[in-house]
Amino acid sequence: LTSNGMLKSTGCNEFQHLYATETFDKVYNLSENLGRGKFSTVKKCIKKDDQDKTYAAKFIKKRYVKHALNELRILELSRKHPYLITLHEVYDLPLEVIFILEYAQQGDLQFILELEGCLDESKSIHVTKQLLEAIQFLHDNKIVHLDIKPQNILLMEKWPSTKIKLCDFGLSRILTNECIHEILGTTDFLGKHIHLTLKRTPEVVSYEPLTRATDMWSIGVLIYVLVTGHTPFGGTNKHDTHNNITHCVLDFPSELFENISINCIDLIQKLIVRIPKQRASADECLQHVWLTTLPTINDLHSYDEQILSKGGLSENQIESDFESQMT
Ligand code: ADP
Ligand code: MG
Repeated sequence: LTSNGMLKSTGCNEFQHLYATETFDKVYNLSENLGRGKFSTVKKCIKKDDQDKTYAAKFIKKRYVKHALNELRILELSRKHPYLITLHEVYDLPLEVIFILEYAQQGDLQFILELEGCLDESKSIHVTKQLLEAIQFLHDNKIVHLDIKPQNILLMEKWPSTKIKLCDFGLSRILTNECIHEILGTTDFLGKHIHLTLKRTPEVVSYEPLTRATDMWSIGVLIYVLVTGHTPFGGTNKHDTHNNITHCVLDFPSELFENISINCIDLIQKLIVRIPKQRASADECLQHVWLTTLPTINDLHSYDEQILSKGGLSENQIESDFESQMT
């Protein structure tokens, strides 16, 4: 099966070393669904001969072979960075590709946002720092992610003192001549407004070239969303939202920002900037005072302990809270 795969049919042989040699069903038992996006379904899977080995299997159908190939290129590079999801192996089947990824046992950041509404600054800093390091690595390697959002940020351990890993390189692109001319995604990507404003930067809305700065805008919007639970440009409809983005009408309403530090607002203002070249780079952000002063990871550990001493939330409680928010 592996020798007759869909990637191979595109003439791509460069990832042979990652291809599995046995059939998927022989090696893994499939378990519950972990997520579903536009191009893929992700399921938990457990190794048949070693029940302790759990992975996430990302299934991508043949009609999205271009996305799969693109993602595979970047996943291969990602194996070198601690804050990017690690690819374990690949099943290249005639009708679909399966990426066997390391398993993020605590799911994604969207789950936490839905549970907590917004995050306090120490938790936001903890997440943002790691995300910026991941993006700095991608940008240094001439890759733009182009889909930075809470659903694509995975939590590897118990929240909040967790390592995060950025995933989903389905829309990522390798830069040639430092920019790409491409209309990103399609209107069917537009779900809730919160997703809309993360992906629709002014250059995406106006069909201008995309650069590393496109990711930096999304990080600015993400920080805004993390600390407030609100999107900065959400209008009452799609047209309003696009309009707000194009004109970069950014404000910091006091009801959302009264407890937010000046440093945090300053960083957001350096990222959500109409002209891409004027946005802070990942390197510059990592030097920013919001990310270089307190709190430390120990503050987050003590938060963990507080939750535990209160008895914590049971898994069932978390699940039922989540379901009631989703319906
Ligand atoms: P898509 O391109 O379809 O959006 P993603 O790679 O973003 O695919 O995966 C979809 C969802 O599946 C994610 O938002 C996340 O909730 C879940 N997921 C993806 N990869 C993993 C993983 N390695 N471990 C746990 N959950 C994952
Ligand atoms: Mg995704």
